[in-house]
Amino acid sequence: MQPLQERHLSASALATYQSCALRFRYRYLDNLYWSQLWGAPPEDRARIERGQNFHLMARRYYAGLDPARVEDAVEQKELESWLTLMQGFMPRTFDQAFYPELELRLNRPDLRLQAKFDLVVVSPDGKATIFDWKTERKLPTRSYLDKAPQTVMYRYMLAAAGGQYSPRGQFKPEEISMIYWNPMHPTRWHRLEYSQARFDKDEQFLRDLVSRIVKTPRDMFLATTDEGTCRRCEFQMICHGKRAEQLDLSDEEELREATLAWDDLPELP
Ligand code: SF4
Repeated sequence: MQPLQERHLSASALATYQSCALRFRYRYLDNLYWSQLWGAPPEDRARIERGQNFHLMARRYYAGLDPARVEDAVEQKELESWLTLMQGFMPRTFDQAFYPELELRLNRPDLRLQAKFDLVVVSPDGKATIFDWKTERKLPTRSYLDKAPQTVMYRYMLAAAGGQYSPRGQFKPEEISMIYWNPMHPTRWHRLEYSQARFDKDEQFLRDLVSRIVKTPRDMFLATTDEGTCRRCEFQMICHGKRAEQLDLSDEEELREATLAWDDLPELP
């Protein structure tokens, strides 16, 4: 396995470290990936799979492909209604560039990061909008979203590493915004604008955090003392000898790329 300083860290990895350094070690150094879905109630599994299917349908729609179909007729109907809402909210047009499931990497010697966006839309005037689809019932507040590591990382990454998708070869922070949209709450969406001042602040924050992580000796990734975090952690059996009481099933990104639930995301200073 690559040394930590050579690996590209995702928003979910950073959020994991912030919530519990030991959990970060288990996942990203010891490579102990225990799926949150193992042992989950059937209704939770179904909900997560529906969210994953919705992401797949959204990806295919913005890529100009026919939407995928699922076997279950009831679920298919619900997914189609979500897709219709999404198409009404952000229709695919020919005057803008659509990049579904765009992946970016930042390759600086002291800052290696990666991000995978649900969708980036770039208009001819160079403005870029990052879309993130959520399908969980719970709606985080705007102030929470503004400080969430996913918001910090995604806007920063598009400005720092997404220049090839800009008609001018570089996105200014002021040209970037991020929208969280949920088909279960289609009118309660949030657009989070960006700025040079916030970019500078985010860069400093990310540098400090990544530097702290890569300098941490292996045996110094310490356990959190927050019992609430442990209760939702898949490694509770290792640390405390019992199964997680409440599995982290509410964050789709984790289930797609191993991240944390909104409840777990620590706020930035
Ligand atoms: S059970 Fe608690 S201490 Fe152990 S890895 Fe999970 S969050 Fe950290």
